[in-house]
Amino acid sequence: MKVLVSACLMGENVRYDGQNNLVCHDRMKELDIVTCCPEVDGGLPVPRIPAEIYHDSVLNREGVEVTACFQKGARHALSLVQQHDIQVAILKANSPSCGNESIYDGSFSKTLVPGKGITVRLLEQYGVKVFNEHQLDAAFAYITTLS
Ligand code: SF4
Repeated sequence: MKVLVSACLMGENVRYDGQNNLVCHDRMKELDIVTCCPEVDGGLPVPRIPAEIYHDSVLNREGVEVTACFQKGARHALSLVQQHDIQVAILKANSPSCGNESIYDGSFSKTLVPGKGITVRLLEQYGVKVFNEHQLDAAFAYITTLS
């Protein structure tokens, strides 16, 4: 079974600052992984100006709206899910694209609030179960129930 995983969690340097969030967990090797980075897939460069969700828009730190790029990236992630018949995703916590439980509040003050990233919102509409990198045990348990 294939699992969608944030590219930055797999060590790809696609974060806004050109870094990654590599997750080291033995069981990741058991997964048949399809990676995605919705922000790059949506047309944004690496590095890029960080962005946060404010109400239903995504604005970068300079006040430029980048909602369309985030939505394009979300649609690309959905196309991967549909192409590979994916039911589970492990995505980066707190991201305005990939966050599944909390996101930054739009003030660029490192303040987290309950909420979901743009890609997670779309994937969940289509029935994908989304975990983050702090929920790997739960993700593996869930995957086991599907196998
Ligand atoms: S959009 Fe997702 S995959 Fe891309 S850098 Fe941000 S958290 Fe990682």
